Amino acid sequence: MRILVIEDEVKIAGAIKRGLEMKGYAVDMVHDADTGLSYACDADYDLVILDRMLPGSMDGVELCRRVRDNGISVPILMLTARGTIGDKIEGLNSGADDYVVKPFSFDELIARVKALLRRPPKHTGTIIKLDDLTVDTTNYSVKRGDKSIKLSQKEYALLEYLLHRVGQVVTKDMIIAHVWDEDAEVLPNTVEVYIGYLRNKIDRVFPDRPALIHTLRGFGYSLRLEAQPDKEANKS
Ligand code: CA
Repeated sequence: MRILVIEDEVKIAGAIKRGLEMKGYAVDMVHDADTGLSYACDADYDLVILDRMLPGSMDGVELCRRVRDNGISVPILMLTARGTIGDKIEGLNSGADDYVVKPFSFDELIARVKALLRRPPKHTGTIIKLDDLTVDTTNYSVKRGDKSIKLSQKEYALLEYLLHRVGQVVTKDMIIAHVWDEDAEVLPNTVEVYIGYLRNKIDRVFPDRPALIHTLRGFGYSLRLEAQPDKEANKS
């Protein structure tokens, strides 16, 4: 695993590099935003540790935004001395995947690095796409092609849950456990109702586009581009 450290405080950067190398990671280190941006965009890193306050033509938040604008979904862990809630939200909305406030314990940093490296790459970044369906997780906007789709809070939560499991089969119980809180009284029938609402909004009103929500009778649901297996069976 190769990690890029973008941190202008040379002592801190060096300590992070040594610590990560002791854990077996390969580490490159740069000390200003502009070099950091070109490294992050040109090389295929597994993770970027990015300081928020950097010398150069942009700060860490802007650097993060530009990395994402280039379509690069590398996990980004942002470091900062500032720890207000507004700063954290700004960092995460710019496309960072996690946030560590200085001074941090090295053990915590390593634990967060490991957690980020465990995530499948497609789950990073703020925009999730499937076919021409685009979901921007920073402002909860959903579009199919150019057409905006208005979803209720629950429909959105259900869609985002399914999008994080594209191609997998999710059961009604999984949906209930992840989309509703434990106090909600949800019956399997409720899930069917919400799947129906979502299907109307993202599939049925786009009859010329492939259906994305598939029902696997007796198992659950699957969000994916391929044709539904039982439909294919019916064709033959
Ligand atoms: Ca700094």
